[in-house]
Amino acid sequence: MFAKFALAAILSAAALPAMAANCETVIEGNDAMQFNLKEITVDKSCEKYTVTLKHVGKLPVSAMGHNWVLTTTDNMEATAKDGMAAGAANGYLKPNDDRVIAHTDMIGGGEESSVTFDVNKLTAGENYTYFCSFPGHWAIMKGTLKLGS
Ligand code: ZN
Repeated sequence: MFAKFALAAILSAAALPAMAANCETVIEGNDAMQFNLKEITVDKSCEKYTVTLKHVGKLPVSAMGHNWVLTTTDNMEATAKDGMAAGAANGYLKPNDDRVIAHTDMIGGGEESSVTFDVNKLTAGENYTYFCSFPGHWAIMKGTLKLGS
């Protein structure tokens, strides 16, 4: 009896990774203007992908605001500059900017924000960059996102 249950438990545990690709990730931003991930790979079997940004620092959004913004690498710089011009009231993003594939809210220390986007917006082989659009942050706070196998 016990052996039968144990075997069933082992089999179901082993089956889990194959059944569900990991379609979400958590990224942290801190008071030193850093993300804790330099690269995110989105499994192409995911229909949707969720990114949760956690601000693990203590500084307020006005001083050390962070968001997570995804664009193609080619569009990143212009999107960040337009975001700076859009100002704090717009979360440092140009409203309805169609270059932005996904973005979280701009948050301060102790807060978190999630965004879920359709993976079919991503193209294999395209280079994507995620960054924080707070003024002065995007030069350092950025990483690479790609569509994986
Ligand atoms: Zn930031």
